[in-house]
Amino acid sequence: EIDQHYRALGVDTLSQRLGGVEAVASRVGGEPTSWDIREVGDGNLNLVFIVSGDVGSVVVKQALPYVRMVGESWPLPIYRAHFEYYALVRQAKRAPGIAPEVYYFDKPQALFVMEYLHPHTILRRKLINGERVAQLGETIGQFCARTAFRGSELSLSSPEKKADVGLFSGNVAIPAITESLVFTDPYYGAEMNHHTPELSPVVDELRRNARLKAKVQRLLMKFTSNTETMLHGDLHSGSIMATDTDVRVIDPEFSQYGPMAFDLGMAVANFLMAYFSQPAHRLEDELEAYQAWILEVIEACFTRFDAEFRHLWQTERTGILFPKSLFEEQGNSADDACDALLEEIRLDALAYCGIEMHRRVLSLAHNADFEEIKDTALRAKLEARNVLMGQTLIMEPEAYCDLNALADLAKAYNQQE
Ligand code: ADP
Ligand code: MG
Ligand code: MG
Ligand code: MG
Repeated sequence: EIDQHYRALGVDTLSQRLGGVEAVASRVGGEPTSWDIREVGDGNLNLVFIVSGDVGSVVVKQALPYVRMVGESWPLPIYRAHFEYYALVRQAKRAPGIAPEVYYFDKPQALFVMEYLHPHTILRRKLINGERVAQLGETIGQFCARTAFRGSELSLSSPEKKADVGLFSGNVAIPAITESLVFTDPYYGAEMNHHTPELSPVVDELRRNARLKAKVQRLLMKFTSNTETMLHGDLHSGSIMATDTDVRVIDPEFSQYGPMAFDLGMAVANFLMAYFSQPAHRLEDELEAYQAWILEVIEACFTRFDAEFRHLWQTERTGILFPKSLFEEQGNSADDACDALLEEIRLDALAYCGIEMHRRVLSLAHNADFEEIKDTALRAKLEARNVLMGQTLIMEPEAYCDLNALADLAKAYNQQE
C-alpha cells in the first residue's frame, strides 16, 4: 500500500520539495526557484527529472503507483524504487564506476537522487544510429561477472547472503512482470501481446513448438527459484548509457536474486537484436562493417565475463562455496570446477538470450531497433531471423557455446530470406 504522504513530483513542485535537501541543493546550486527542471522519463514506468542549477545537475527518479506506458489501470507498487536504490548501492560496491552514484534516498516518496550521466545517451539509440562505443562488450561482460560473483556465496558470507535474499524477496510485483511478459506471454496468445502482422506464420509455428515451451518453462523455474546472485534484472540496451568511450548501466528496478546467467543473456540478446535490425538502419556500404562490430561486441562480452569471473574465482573466493581449504588440503585445483560453472553459465545465458529475443517482438514491450522500421514487410523479415535464432539458442545452446559457432549462426540467419 502507498504511504499516505506519497505525492508524485512535478516540474512545478520539485524545487520546493527538494530545495531544502542538502545533498541535492549543494550539487545543483543557486536558488531552488531558479532551477531548470525537465522531465525526461522515456521509459515504461517512472518519472525521471534532470535538475540543473549554477553548480551542476542531478537526476531525480521517482516511482509512480502504476505502469506509465499503460496508465492507472495497471497499478504497480512504488516500493520498486526502494529495490532500485538497494541494487544501485550494491552495484556500486560490487562493480565500481558503472552504476550512477546515488546522492539521496527518500523511502516514503519512493524517490532517489543520482548522478547525472552526461553526455551519455541511451545505447539502443546509438546502435540504431550506427555509432560505436569503445570497450562496450568488455565493460558489460565485466559488470555482469563482478555482480554475479560478488553477489553470490562465492563471495558473500552465508548470513549476509540470506539477509539480502530476504530483503529482495519483498520485490514481488516487478519479478512477476518478467515471469509473464518475458517467459510466458511470448509463447501463447496472451492479451497484451502484439506482433508485426507479416510475422504471423513464424509466430504460429513457434507457439506450436511444445518442446520449446517446456524448455522455456524450465528456465523460468530456474529464474524464479534460484537465488545464486543479485541480478540487474533488466539489462537491455535501453538500460545502458554511453559516450564513445564510457559505458554505464542504469535502471535496476527489476533487481532480484536469480541465476548468474540472466543479465549476461539479456544483454547479448539486445546486441543480437541490434545486429538483426541493422539492414533497415544502415546503407549497404556501412552495413557489413557495423554488423561485424556488433558481433565483436558479443564475443568480447562473453570472453570478458569468463576472464573476470575466473580472476575473481582465483583471487576473491571468500564465501562458503568451493572453499580453498576443501581443495588445497589434498593439493587439488579448483580451476576445473570454475570452468565447469562457466560452461553452465554460458549455456543458460544463450537460452535466456533466446527468450529475450522472442519477447521483444512477440510480447508487450517491443524495442525501437525493430519497432521503428516502418516497412512492416521488411520488419517482419528481420524479426523472423531474430525469432528463429532465438529458438535455436533455446533448443540447442550446447551447439553455440563456441563463440565462432555463435557468430556463424547469427551470420547464417542474417542471410535468410
Ligand atoms: P524507467 O525505469 O522508467 O525505464 P530509466 O531509469 O530507464 O526509467 O530512465 C528513463 C530515462 O531517463 C533514460 O532512458 C535516460 O534517458 C534518462 N536517465 C535516467 N537516469 C539517468 C541518469 N542517471 N543520467 C542521465 N539520464 C538518465
Ligand atoms: Mg528504463
Ligand atoms: Mg513489433
Ligand atoms: Mg525501469
